[in-house]
Amino acid sequence: MANITVCARFRPLSSKERSGHGDSVCIERINDEAFNLKDEKEGEMKFSFDKVFYEDSKQDDVYSFLAHPIVRDVVNAINGTIITYGQTGAGKTYSMEGPSILESNDAKKGLLARVIDGIFREITYADSIKYTIKLSMVEIYMEKVRDLLDLSKDNVQIKETKSQGILLPEVTEISLSDSAEALRSLSSGICNRAVGETQMNVGSSRSHCIYIFSVHQESTKQTRTYGKLILVDLAGSEKIEKTGAEGRVLEEAKTINKSLSALGNVVHALTCGPNGKGNHIPYRNSKLTRILQDSLGGNSQMALLCCCSPSASNVSETLSSLRFGARAKHIKASPRVHCTKDKHAKTIRTSFPSEDGSCDEVTEKPRESMDAEDVKLLRDLFTWEGRALDPNFLEDLELDWGLVAAPTNIPLRQAVEELASAVELLKDQNKVLEAMLAVVTRMLSSHGEANENVGFGHLVLESLKPSIAWVASLPLFKLLTDSYAFLSCCCFTK
Ligand code: ADP
Ligand code: MG
Repeated sequence: MANITVCARFRPLSSKERSGHGDSVCIERINDEAFNLKDEKEGEMKFSFDKVFYEDSKQDDVYSFLAHPIVRDVVNAINGTIITYGQTGAGKTYSMEGPSILESNDAKKGLLARVIDGIFREITYADSIKYTIKLSMVEIYMEKVRDLLDLSKDNVQIKETKSQGILLPEVTEISLSDSAEALRSLSSGICNRAVGETQMNVGSSRSHCIYIFSVHQESTKQTRTYGKLILVDLAGSEKIEKTGAEGRVLEEAKTINKSLSALGNVVHALTCGPNGKGNHIPYRNSKLTRILQDSLGGNSQMALLCCCSPSASNVSETLSSLRFGARAKHIKASPRVHCTKDKHAKTIRTSFPSEDGSCDEVTEKPRESMDAEDVKLLRDLFTWEGRALDPNFLEDLELDWGLVAAPTNIPLRQAVEELASAVELLKDQNKVLEAMLAVVTRMLSSHGEANENVGFGHLVLESLKPSIAWVASLPLFKLLTDSYAFLSCCCFTK
């Protein structure tokens, strides 16, 4: 378990700030890890972080320190999260995107462009492994998760599974083949963001934007590894009286502030109490904290960039961002390599597994809406297929249950009866073929020396081969597997 990385970044004073307040800056540099913050009310306070990026910092310095180690690890299947936090206008989006996501000036490119280049660079080093890179983009606007790559999905649901953690199963995921394509996709997604205008920042983000890169690694063994890299450009906290927000913009600001305080509460719960463990962590109090559940103290590396204004006029907001960062520094993360058994490589069982807890687990959900007899049929079917002992199947079942349980007109029992009669038919045919095979095998062994008998035996065997092959290609279990797809569409309610 290691503490997360927390850095502070001060943007340059804007021309307006410079003209309005002279050189009134609220920070005093000590070194690259510490500075003093001067507040008229609270006096001088020293803050230390893993790294402090001052006004003259370069975009590449931020990437190299904060993001590069995480990018390197995500290619090795360790999840990572990078969050930009801070007051509106403090430089979160500048740090994440640069002046624009399609920025051509290399020095000004933000974290996103550098992360993409970094991922593609890392995977070319490992040229013996095949990688697939995928991208999803969502924003949390007014407590709804909107798919930025498909705006028709304007209320994406958040799910959780044991093996994969927090997921957005309906969200659009596109494959990326190179950096240029990735940037074009990001650019079109960013254009779909909800943007409003406040006095603090013309073009200020009114939503939290979440970029999810997944790096899948195909292995020759029957395992698949993948790392997920989440970049979060948070909407800025704002003092409503300062921004002059009203109407819809006011509602947006209230929702943003609410979800940011939910984030603060999660950080507080994670870093307070007995070892920070065993407390109730209120992840479910906002969409933001729920989506970031794995990142906040879970199976993910995390880096937080606290973006601040150096201007004396913003000192109270700067102080609050720095205090958030200082507290977040105590969060402990426990990242581990993410490895799953390859679903497609699983073998279908040819014997009945013994009844055990796995089976009960598989049928736990259906039991809520089905009668006992139907549950038993379903349970037998899963056992027969060997699915009951497949952890991936268990997860998928849980995930798909909502969709599968949708009402249709075909009752489960009718489907199972049809399957059962097909099974009986196959059993009979199998028996006949097995008997014929036994006869031929006996004839071959007892008259093996006699040429003519051998010839006859081979003749019979050859004639049986197509039938044997047919049975082999259509065993009971395969039939049931195929039929499962059909069953998935069936209604499990009566
Ligand atoms: P936020 O996303 O936190 O609301 P922005 O990233 O949009 O704020 O930054 C506000 C303004 O400050 C923008 O005009 C941006 O170009 C500028 N800015 C922020 N950080 C820097 C920086 N490190 N260097 C130069 N300009 C910056
Ligand atoms: Mg922004």
